[in-house]
Amino acid sequence: LIQLEDIYKIYKLGDTEVHALDGITLGIEQGEFIAIVGPSGSGKSTLMNILGCLDTPTEGSYLFEGKDMSKLSDDQLAIIRNKHIGFVFQSFNLLPKLDAVENVEVPLTYAGKKGPARRERAVKMLEIVGLGDRIHHKPKELSGGQQQRVAIARALSTDPPVILADEPTGNLDTKSGTEIMQILKELNKSGKTVILITHDINIAKQAQRNVHIQDGKIIEDVKVAG
Ligand code: ATP
Ligand code: MG
Repeated sequence: LIQLEDIYKIYKLGDTEVHALDGITLGIEQGEFIAIVGPSGSGKSTLMNILGCLDTPTEGSYLFEGKDMSKLSDDQLAIIRNKHIGFVFQSFNLLPKLDAVENVEVPLTYAGKKGPARRERAVKMLEIVGLGDRIHHKPKELSGGQQQRVAIARALSTDPPVILADEPTGNLDTKSGTEIMQILKELNKSGKTVILITHDINIAKQAQRNVHIQDGKIIEDVKVAG
């Protein structure tokens, strides 16, 4: 599904260079539940941005479903982002003025869905994450864990095959974090490829495979119990 080959990312700031990724080679199969684990500054978000086609590597090749991402135009990359990848962020990134169901409808609107079908789909996604009774709550009227569940419902709304989650439990207490991990596990069972980015070993252990990165390099790639 995903093949990264000798990826380098160098940020240039004036005359200093930051080598954020230093030769990453990584394959991810369809249906995997993989956690990318590493300390602060190890390059996790940089890697997530590249995987999510939000940024491009300085060097190296990225194949997504066999397509070379470096050969695509910005418009084509946007299509991959919108159709194939559902994003979940640490800070939820919900629109504060919209209620839960309207937030979930945003990507559906971009995908050209309208009217009752769009609403129906959004409500169904909120039901899947256990928020069928909160559809008209605004983000500030929801707990952190509930806001993250809305964000997951939004990521799922267009049925992307890949879920890319950067520290999805980072702002949550242990109980809400466990609930979010449970949802990600169920999504994986239903066939989604889940890529989780975290600094937390205990969270990572709940995936099936742990790729440890440090200073922009993979130092370990192991199967875990899940
Ligand atoms: P955290 O766990 O704190 O989120 P991270 O593993 O996500 O850390 P990255 O954000 O990928 O780490 O950063 C990797 C390195 O690249 C860091 O040394 C950081 O300072 C640097 N870096 C990240 N983004 C930029 C940027 N836009 N410009 C310059 N340097 C950057
Ligand atoms: Mg980060």
